[in-house]
Amino acid sequence: MRLTGNRGGMTEVFDAIVLGVGGFGSGAAHHLARRGLRVLGLDRFGPAHDRGSSHGETRIIRKAYFEHPDYVPLLLRAYDLWADLEAESRQQLFWKCGLMLAGLPDSEAISGARLSASQHGLTIENLSASAATQRWPGFRVPEAFDAVFEPDAGFLKVEDCVRTHLDRAAAHGAVLLFDEPVVSWSSTGRDVRVRTATREFVAASLIITAGSWAASVLADLKLPLQVLRKPIFWFETTSPAYNLDASMPTFYFEMPAVEVASTFYGFPSLDGQVLKVAQHSGGELVADPLLVDRNLHDADVQPIANFLRTCLPNVRLQPARHSACLYTVTPDRHFIVDRHPEFSNVVIGCGFSGHGFKFTSVLGSAFADLATTGRTELPIDFLSLARLSG
Ligand SMILES: Cc1cc2nc3c(=O)[nH]c(=O)nc-3n(C[C@H](O)[C@H](O)[C@H](O)COP(=O)(O)OP(=O)(O)OC[C@H]3O[C@@H](n4cnc5c(N)ncnc54)[C@H](O)[C@@H]3O)c2cc1C
Repeated sequence: MRLTGNRGGMTEVFDAIVLGVGGFGSGAAHHLARRGLRVLGLDRFGPAHDRGSSHGETRIIRKAYFEHPDYVPLLLRAYDLWADLEAESRQQLFWKCGLMLAGLPDSEAISGARLSASQHGLTIENLSASAATQRWPGFRVPEAFDAVFEPDAGFLKVEDCVRTHLDRAAAHGAVLLFDEPVVSWSSTGRDVRVRTATREFVAASLIITAGSWAASVLADLKLPLQVLRKPIFWFETTSPAYNLDASMPTFYFEMPAVEVASTFYGFPSLDGQVLKVAQHSGGELVADPLLVDRNLHDADVQPIANFLRTCLPNVRLQPARHSACLYTVTPDRHFIVDRHPEFSNVVIGCGFSGHGFKFTSVLGSAFADLATTGRTELPIDFLSLARLSG
């Protein structure tokens, strides 16, 4: 069904509107547009901006998913779709340098990755702490730890992925409007109306991928989302062992603690000078994502410096630069990917809980399915909104 919208006096026709074209919205816009649909993407900031959750140079991508084996079929498809996007754009987006997980044998990371690998026949290598330290001399893996290496893992260049999804969406005819905050939306179930400060648009369906603003854009649903401030750091290296071209993998350490484990992750040095490291666990609650504190504080650096001292000894402990990013987390740390419970032509993607980016290709395709046919062949039932009610 094609419906008309009014933009600056000109009548335009849209099949679908994507509210928020950051990580997931850019993927959705691309998949809708390449299917020949007339798409409008709206964002409050510019393309591939640094005010939400999809910036900071790199994101880890992996298949042996320790969070839950149900993600693996989606990941297999995500890998295919990233390869398709690279081929279509003639640009490298994925670097396959592997991932080393390190933790106690019964830690979530180690036991969860082994479970996903065995259930889905994925290739992983099991190493002792000393074998891991010998293989990658930049690491000191604590003696009581096991290590798991996943050779198919690696990293995506995050801003390049968002930009490429947007560029390809535009090349397939999508209309993308930036610095255009949406102030309200409504649905009759048959069509949707979306208002920005200056104009109103109409379409057959709406995809809401508003990241850390999802709870306010979907205020009626009272979504159980929390927004967390997550600083990211680049530290100078004093050893070539940390370089990408020295076969240094991405890494994730689960450090045991008295109550909750502290988890840290990082990437090989891309320029031979600095490497990016951050803490996955913890994070301060943010009341308003527009007002997040982007300054650096001692309390931000302290836990990472302690981790580096123990596990990456040849890295300078004072960050060379930093950035602040946002996690939007659900109570069970699994995503929300569903249709709106009241309006079947409104699709919701949010609560990506600090591990969503690698899925923006495949879930972009799922959002396009849901917005056009109301269903998808992709196995997303475990990500339903209903699981969180009650
Ligand atoms: C520090 C950090 C490290 C991470 N590491 C990894 C990793 O290694 N691997 C991984 O897979 N994932 C990782 N993630 C998670 C992943 O990056 C996020 O899950 C993903 O980027 C979320 O994308 P999004 O589309 O939900 O949010 P965003 O990319 O922030 O997009 C939401 C968009 O909606 C727009 N918007 C909101 N409200 C409005 C409105 N009213 N009108 C118009 N536009 C609006 C915003 O401007 C924004 O562009 C990490 C996240 C962070 C912060």
